[in-house]
Amino acid sequence: MIQTENLTKIYNGNTAVDGLNLTVGEGEIFGFLGPNGAGKSTTILMLTGMIEPTTGRCLVDGIEVAKDPLAVKKIIGYLPEDVGFYGNLTAEQNLDYFARFYGMSAGERKARIAELLGLVHLDGVTQKAGEYSRGMKQRLGLAQALINDPKVLFLDEPTANLDPEGVREYRDLIIALAGEGKTIFVSSHILSEVRAVCRTIGLLVEGKLVTKGTLGDVARMLAPSDSSTIRIVIETVEQLPDLDDPGIIAIERSGNRAVIRAATDIRDRLSALLLEQGMHIREMRVEEPGIEDVFMAIYRR
Ligand code: ADP
Repeated sequence: MIQTENLTKIYNGNTAVDGLNLTVGEGEIFGFLGPNGAGKSTTILMLTGMIEPTTGRCLVDGIEVAKDPLAVKKIIGYLPEDVGFYGNLTAEQNLDYFARFYGMSAGERKARIAELLGLVHLDGVTQKAGEYSRGMKQRLGLAQALINDPKVLFLDEPTANLDPEGVREYRDLIIALAGEGKTIFVSSHILSEVRAVCRTIGLLVEGKLVTKGTLGDVARMLAPSDSSTIRIVIETVEQLPDLDDPGIIAIERSGNRAVIRAATDIRDRLSALLLEQGMHIREMRVEEPGIEDVFMAIYRR
């Protein structure tokens, strides 16, 4: 459904996207993962026909985007990172404004807008868009991206700055849309975010695709190598006692909290140790490596 062939974008001598070859099948939820500045937004701008590639090409549903951007725009929806609306219009008025671009009749627009407002839980909201929370704006953005019932949806960092409740609602919506057969291309710099919804993942670093595969393939690649360590974060109600366990490589303590670097997951032993000493554990978790750590690990291999 989405295909790029040596897709490249150079801005004033700087290569933002570097010979990208990518295929995303119909109905996939594809996670386009990479640190800030990796070239994710630039790729999406080329795929949506907002900018032209320097070299190479991209196709959506078999249509070459740079050759027929209008045909592509009819079958795609796009939610930019910073979505903008008319602040003094309601959700319905904003959506009606966009629906008119697709030549829908008044009746079609009314029905479609009512359906979308229900889908994104903005039905019955009378406030104007300028008064919306970030989460409400994102949901309205999603409704806008869906106005033409697109086959392919491009979402650029859709959960950035959303609160946990907003993120959950958003994930459910994305999964429901994929269930309708839409192809969804989501960019993110947050590994756990992509992992939560995407079935296939591509990793982009400095404009280049480092790897692409199913969630399982990429998870295996991202799994800590033998020589790597895990971070365990512990927080207790009382002041933490000394922790003595052969698995601990390093420990940073501050008051009731400790961040432990260990060779393996020794949470069971640590919690037994703390319980023995009558400590009350508030939290104990393994911290996911940051995206930069993950990329560094892949580079080293
Ligand atoms: P991401 O979305 O992964 O954060 P971007 O696609 O926004 O990455 O940016 C990739 C690189 O291209 C960055 O180095 C960025 O500074 C540069 N870049 C992005 N847009 C422009 C532009 N309009 N003009 C010049 N450089 C740009």
